[in-house]
Order: sequence, then structure tokens, then C-alpha cells
Amino acid sequence: MILAESIGRLETESAFEVLARAAALERQGREIINLGIGQPDFRTPEHVVEAAVKALRDGAHGYTPAQGLLPLREAVAADVAKRRGAEISPENIVIMPGGKPTMFFAMMLFGEPGAEIMYPDPGFPIYRSMIRYTGAEAVPIVLREENGFAFSADEILAGITPRTRLVIVNSPGNPTGGAAPREEVEKLVAGLMDHPHVALMADEIYGRMLYEGREHVSFLSFPEIRDRLILLDGWSKTYAMTGWRLGWSYWPDALIEKAVRLCVNSHSCVNAATQWAGIAALEGPQDAVEAMMRAFDERRRVIVRRLNQLPGVTCLDPAGAFYAFPNISGTGADARTLQTRFLEEAGVATVAGPSFGLHAKDYIRFSYANSVENIERAMDRIAGVL
Ligand code: PLP
Repeated sequence: MILAESIGRLETESAFEVLARAAALERQGREIINLGIGQPDFRTPEHVVEAAVKALRDGAHGYTPAQGLLPLREAVAADVAKRRGAEISPENIVIMPGGKPTMFFAMMLFGEPGAEIMYPDPGFPIYRSMIRYTGAEAVPIVLREENGFAFSADEILAGITPRTRLVIVNSPGNPTGGAAPREEVEKLVAGLMDHPHVALMADEIYGRMLYEGREHVSFLSFPEIRDRLILLDGWSKTYAMTGWRLGWSYWPDALIEKAVRLCVNSHSCVNAATQWAGIAALEGPQDAVEAMMRAFDERRRVIVRRLNQLPGVTCLDPAGAFYAFPNISGTGADARTLQTRFLEEAGVATVAGPSFGLHAKDYIRFSYANSVENIERAMDRIAGVL
């Protein structure tokens, strides 16, 4: 067989490898505390499950429009108006099978040899993987601990060249939990006005997961950038629906038809029952989301306190999402070695910083999507290893 050269550039998401290794250890009878994978440990709210069951019973069995059911796109537009204070048309929204396809398609639209795409580092590993897959050059936007892992608009703007086609930002961010303050968002939008050839992809999948009264500053609330903004969001994290595969994205007029064409060429449409569940999630009671966020906040406090008590470890208070990203440089050990020892010796799954970029060697990601009791036990065990 003669494979395409591009497939050799495709990378992966280590969290799934850690999950597989943790499952293998569990099959051997080990008890593993999973702080590795980025998914809420809650069930999808019951009324959302019921909406999908009802849709299946009512016969929602066929294809839907590739762009997504209109009532769902209307529900998304209404939710955006309510939570982000932005009026957008359902015609600019595409329903996707999860958050990831939006990044895949955005890279397909802009990436090719000779192009540069900027992406957050440390960041979600699929950005760099997909950029490189297209043949474009992946240019890191370094997120620094001293800035609370928020992007610096000045640094992004200084990195733009005539070959830059797309800038990717993710706030609140994976794996750091950092969130950009309003000033940085405003500065970036203003600065991009001097670079009209550059599009922006804002991954706001953790937009409703912020703590201590922090506000989510959505790029959708800046009309001046909307004609070159792709906004990625979805149900996976907010509504504990990672396995349903349901996401949405905003595309400007110039790109919407191309985005839908990519859908037609890849997955045709998202399964119909899941789309009806998505409507129930957005329009129904939000108490389950609020309860989940209260639980995450409590766990966040516990894990940050416990991490800071470990020898050689320091950890910032994450502003959002459900990840703590402690600096482990004081332990004198390498992050990948620690990831392996935590899993093999202590039965605690985590993901080493280098899985998230070139600028993350001193860190380890802990997902606190697990009970306070398990977090406390995991920290006891890790303290033993250290
Ligand atoms: N964007 C970020 C920053 C993420 O962390 C994730 C999942 O971990 C996604 C997008 C993808 O979400 P989905 O599971 O809906 O594809």
C-alpha cells in the first residue's frame, strides 16, 4: 500500500491513550482514579435523554439538513442572544457531530503548504495536529503561567505575517483552565482590524465553565470581527454530553456554504434524535448545569489546595474549564515520567504537559471531573510517589 504523506503528520490526543492504559490496568484488577480524560463525570440531564428517546419513538429516523435542524439552530441563536448578548442568524450556524469537526473543517478551509496558522500552546492537541496535516505551518501562541495562561493579544498580533491565515484562541482553555480577560479580547479584536487577511477561530466550548464570578467574553459579542470569525461550541462539556457527539459553530457569510459542503462530504448530518436532545438541553431547565458547576468549583478548590501541598509542585487557581495545570519543575522529575509513575505506581491517570504542546514540559494536566473523595485519595497516593 502507498499511503499519503500527509497522514504521517497527523498526531493524536494522549488523553485517549491514557484512558486505554487505565482501562487495561483496571482489567488486571487495579483500581484507577481517572484524572486524565476531559469529560464531566455526570450523567446527561434526564430531560435531555428523554427528548432523544421521544424523538426516536416519534420517528426522527432520517437524514436532516446537513446544516442541522432549523429549530435547533434557532435555539442556538436564542441562547447566544441570551448568554452572549449577540444577535446572530440561524443561517450562520452549523450543527456538528461534536466540537472537533469545526476545527477540522476550519483547518481544511485555510490550511495548505505556505500558509501559517497560529494556535495556543499549551493547547488542545488537535489544533496542531490538524494544522500540520493540511501542510500549513503551525505557529504556537505561547500561553504563559505568569499571565494565568491567558493569551497575550500583543504577542499574537506581533506573530502575524502576510502568510498568517487563521488565529486560533481557546478561552477558557484546555489544558490550563486559563481564561482571557476582557482587555485582552478587546485588544486582539482591535488589533486584528489592521490585519484584514487573518481569520479567527474562537473555541468557546468551555464558555459556561468559569469560576469566582469571572465573565465569559465571547468573540461573538464583537460585530466588527464577525465577518471572519469561526466560533466553536457544543454540548459536550456544558451538558455532560461528550458521547452524544453534538456541537455547533458560527460561520460568517463568506464561509457558511463551504462549511456545509464539508459536512455533506463527510458526515451528511448529525443524527436526528441527538439534535432534538440538543434543543431540550438549551431550552429546558439549567439547574443540572448549575449543580455541575458548583461541584466542579468545590473540586477545583480541593485539588488546587492539595496540589500546592505536594513537594516541588505549584498550581494556579484555574479560571475555568475543569483542569488544573500544576507546574512540576520543582520535583526535578520529567512530566512524562511522572505521568507514568502516577498511573503505574499510584493508579492515578493524568496527562503530561508535553501532550499539549512544545511549551508545556514543566506541567501535568489533572482533570478534576471526579469526586472530591477520589481527588483526595488521588492526592494521597501521588504524595506517596513524590
Ligand atoms: N475544544 C476543546 C478545547 C476541547 O478541550 C475539546 C474536548 O476535549 C473539544 C474542543 C472537542 O469537543 P468534542 O468532544 O465536542 O468534540
